[in-house]
Formats: sequence, C-alpha cells, structure tokens
Amino acid sequence: MAGEESGGTTGPDHPARPAPAAHRALYTPHPRMADSPSDRPPLASPSMNLTPLPAFTDNYIWLLDDGQRTLAVDPGEADGLLAWLQARSLALDTILITHHHADHTGGVDALRSATGARVIGPAFEPMPEPLQRVAGGEALQALGVDFEVIDVPGHTSGHIAYFAPRAPGGPLLFCGDTLFSAGCGRLFEGTPGQMHESLQRLAALPDETRVCCTHEYTLANLRFALAVEPYNPDLQAHARHCETLRAADQPTLPSRIALERAINPFLRTTEPAVVQAARTRDPAANDPVAVLGALREWKNNFR
Ligand SMILES: [Zn+2]
Repeated sequence: MAGEESGGTTGPDHPARPAPAAHRALYTPHPRMADSPSDRPPLASPSMNLTPLPAFTDNYIWLLDDGQRTLAVDPGEADGLLAWLQARSLALDTILITHHHADHTGGVDALRSATGARVIGPAFEPMPEPLQRVAGGEALQALGVDFEVIDVPGHTSGHIAYFAPRAPGGPLLFCGDTLFSAGCGRLFEGTPGQMHESLQRLAALPDETRVCCTHEYTLANLRFALAVEPYNPDLQAHARHCETLRAADQPTLPSRIALERAINPFLRTTEPAVVQAARTRDPAANDPVAVLGALREWKNNFR
C-alpha cells in the first residue's frame, strides 16, 4: 500500500539520490521549550556522532558512529549510505530495522553484501534474511552502546523501537514510523488502541531522550497539530522554529520526548483542548484511544 510512510513511488525501485544536504551537519541544535531550563545535554559526544542522512523524498537513515564504526537505522537504500561511509573512511558495523516497509529495508541486502554488517530486525515481520531477530524486552549492544527493544505495534503489527538509555550524548530512541515529531504513523496494520499504548510507552521515556524518526514530516504535522490545538504556545513557538530550519534546508530532528509531550496531539489525548477538538470530528471520542482514533482519521484527510 502506498502511503505517506510506506515509501510510495520513491521506494527501492525508484532510488532517489540523497540531497546535497546529506553531508552537512552532524546534528541540529534544538530549540528549548519556552518554559524549560537550559539543561539539555549535547546531541553528540566527542566520541560519537548522530547524523540524519536524507534518502528518497523525506526519509532519514539515522547513523551513529564512533569515528571508526557506524550503526545505521532503516536503510531504505544503499548507494547514498555507501558513499557517505566511503567519504569518511567509516565501516558499517550494524544495521537496525524497525519494521518491514521497503523504504526502511530496501538497502539491507546490498549493504550486507558490500560491508558484512550485522543486521538486526523485528521478530515478527517479513525481513531480508539472514538477520538477528529481536522483540520487546530484549537487549542488544552495538558500537558498545546498550539498546533496549520496545514493542510498538500500530503502524505495522510487529514494529519495534530501539532505545539506548545511556548512549553518549544522552538517551537515544530510534522509533521508525511510530512516533513522528508532532505526529504519529498511519495505522496500516494496527488499531488505535495499539498505537495509543505504543506512543504512551515512548512518551514515558526520559524527557531528554533524542527522538530519531524516519521521516521529515514535521511541518505538515505541525500544521495539523495547530489545527487541533491552535492556542498551545509551545506548539506555536516550535512551528516558527521549524519553519526557519526547513527554510534553511536543515532537519527538524531529532526531537525530544519532553517536547513531544508538549506539542504532539497524539501524545496529548487527555488534554481538554485535544479532546474537545477530537470530538468535533467524532462526538463519541470519550476516551484516549477513541481520541487518538479520531485524530488519526482527521489527519489522514487533512490538507
Ligand atoms: Zn512504514
């Protein structure tokens, strides 16, 4: 099914070159929320870099490297990543996959054969074999960093996320197409109840957790979020900031869990303003799951 998070016509059969911006910033300084103290840790330590490598139209292949070895998340295509690695004399050590959509897995076979990288993916989804399969509650280590696997069904039925609570630079989350900045993935295989539970699981992670989503959907999501909550000052401020970033061709990601709790309507399903807005679409939206379902339906048709 073609859709906003399924790769559409820019899947691996139509590989688009990463934008020139691919070889730019290691990370983007993030705005502070209007009311938060200046206590955010740096996004990268001197010994580990976090890079969103653009792919296709609006995907990011997230890369973590220690100056020698690299971890890649959801490489939907191989060529841009291989060029990136070669330009920096970096080896590809590990590939993490969050779910089965082609724009997240299309580069795996070529990368595995070109680099010998270890591949890790979800236990219960069709995957490019061979790989190590993991499920929620399991732990793994890559580049010396400990990761926990979290089950986050909803976008797909076996979607997983990878959380590194003690990563250099602060906690780090690779969440694929489950949580986006100011939004969430479409419900291709799961229910509103599953997505609600998955998002609440991610919302409970530490405030400072860096949220690495696979798509640059932030501006469109912010437009929707402002339709839901037009008077949320954090949302207004973040929308202005992201407009500036995108005008300069800068990524709006990673986000932070604390920021998402403040601006993301799909995490705010008990906020009176969000509930009220959801009920304008579905008068029967009387609980958080129904509110999320109403918001997701609304967003599907929002222009
Ligand atoms: Zn997807």
